[in-house]
Amino acid sequence: VVARLKSSGLFQTKGLIGGKWIDAYDGKTVEVYNPANGEVIASVACMGERETKDAISSAYDAFSHWSKLTAADRSSRLYKWYNLLIEQKEVLGQLITLEQGKPLKEAIGEVVYGASYIEYFAEEAKRVYGDILPSPMPDRRLFVLKQPVGVVGAITPWNFPLAMITRKAGPALACGCTLVIKPSELTPLTALAAAELALQAGIPPGVLNVVMGDAPKIGKALLESPQVRKLTFTGSTAVGKKLMAGAAETVKKVSLELGGNAPCIVFDDADLEVALEGSLATKLRNSGQTCICTNRLLVQEGIYDKFINAYSNAVQSLKVGNGFSEGVDQGPLINEAAVQKVDSLVQDAISQGAKVVVGGKRHNLGLTFYEPTIISDVKNEMLIARREIFGPVTPVIRFKTEEEAIQIANDTDSDQVHLYGKHGLIQITGAKVVVGGKRHSLGLTFYEPTIISDVKNEMLIARQEIFGPVAPVIRFKTEEEAIQIANDTDAGLAAYLFTNNIQRSWRVSEALEYGIVGVNEGLHAYEVAPFGGFKQSGLGREGSKYGLDDFLEIKCICMGNM
Ligand code: ADP
Repeated sequence: VVARLKSSGLFQTKGLIGGKWIDAYDGKTVEVYNPANGEVIASVACMGERETKDAISSAYDAFSHWSKLTAADRSSRLYKWYNLLIEQKEVLGQLITLEQGKPLKEAIGEVVYGASYIEYFAEEAKRVYGDILPSPMPDRRLFVLKQPVGVVGAITPWNFPLAMITRKAGPALACGCTLVIKPSELTPLTALAAAELALQAGIPPGVLNVVMGDAPKIGKALLESPQVRKLTFTGSTAVGKKLMAGAAETVKKVSLELGGNAPCIVFDDADLEVALEGSLATKLRNSGQTCICTNRLLVQEGIYDKFINAYSNAVQSLKVGNGFSEGVDQGPLINEAAVQKVDSLVQDAISQGAKVVVGGKRHNLGLTFYEPTIISDVKNEMLIARREIFGPVTPVIRFKTEEEAIQIANDTDSDQVHLYGKHGLIQITGAKVVVGGKRHSLGLTFYEPTIISDVKNEMLIARQEIFGPVAPVIRFKTEEEAIQIANDTDAGLAAYLFTNNIQRSWRVSEALEYGIVGVNEGLHAYEVAPFGGFKQSGLGREGSKYGLDDFLEIKCICMGNM
């Protein structure tokens, strides 16, 4: 796959500044890994403050030209970009699966979804309307103009390597803003490919720049620059808070799409099939690694047993594996740290009385792989030289004379101890690892699709964003109790409810302190709909007609002497 992608013309590894592909000024690079097997896919430019400053200057210079093009002109270039993204959806999808891990079908789905923001804002570019206001004075006239804010800094995460970029670039470019984009260092390849297509679509040099590498340094340069008039960020709440504080220094506009803690409420009067399908979709998309994934499954006592039974059966039938394999429903998590976090939340819940219904541990896919290993400075007395290793490990013993070699070679009694699959033999005392020396990372990032029951809302797993394929189930009795539990969190991004009672669906939707509510529906993110959260889930909205506002300044013009 990598070889094919490399010949596609879209496999970029440099940053894009002022329309030129550029290495880091000090030549530094950072490696990009395939999360499914730990292999290095590419080394990309590792940039910092200096490159970011130059990217900002390029964007600043390009603004005067880009913002003055007609809306129709910007629109047609965005359409071209949209068309190219769709034409290249297979290649982009493969890049996403390669660096992010999600199943290929889902990755291609992300390309179509991500591209839809470019198409939508190509249309909206022509609808940045102003206003004429009734004047309080007979000789004056009041007008409202909407103008692009200027240079936009966009920092994006790894879970949607393309869509998180297009959601920001679409409205920004439509309004006439220019951009410095910093994709996640874990998934820069998709962003760079999309940027290459933007150039091909006629987005002029300097209008869209991409830098990546040292996130805090790039962030600092963006925050400190008075030329950057807006920062748009998707990522963790912790980093979002830091950026918001940093933006205060130059009073930038800020949009933040931060963490969620989505409740998914299944009422007794829900249609079981609809609730099952919807709640599975909201939980397991992207292996649970989206900010609108269900984080807490609230199930009413009357439907509890029936629902959990059906949910377990469905979860057990999921196929976990490499995103490129046929029929795979769930890929790996993004990295080892992600698996450890998910597992620690599960173990914490279990230690406090939650029960594993399905899963509950690292997936055994790949657990039996060991790195091809060479160990030097081995002595014949070491366990590794006395027992049969039966694994891909070569212990090297140095000798001087022929006699010594014969003596060492014959100094063994038996090979009766077979330790299949165990690696306890590599107890290195004095010996040195030359290559390998540990379990292979192939497959270590897979986690079993998991359900845990008897969860309480006070447990860590119900308070933190899991970002993994784990459904913690909380049982409730009344509608009031469900609403109270659902709102008892600092987050407020997405919530879901399943009921066939129309009054209840309105009542609960209105009571939920969330920016996105799905009623009898688990997938709810479209370019035409506003996406964003209440409380600490963020500021501003992406997508929809409201998505332009965050990139526009409002200017009031008063004409006198009329
Ligand atoms: P996630 O949990 O999705 O990795 P992060 O908030 O850590 O969330 O990362 C989201 C984006 O923010 C990434 O592009 C990352 O490189 C970037 N980032 C992380 N720390 C900083 C920082 N101090 N300044 C600017 N960007 C940052």
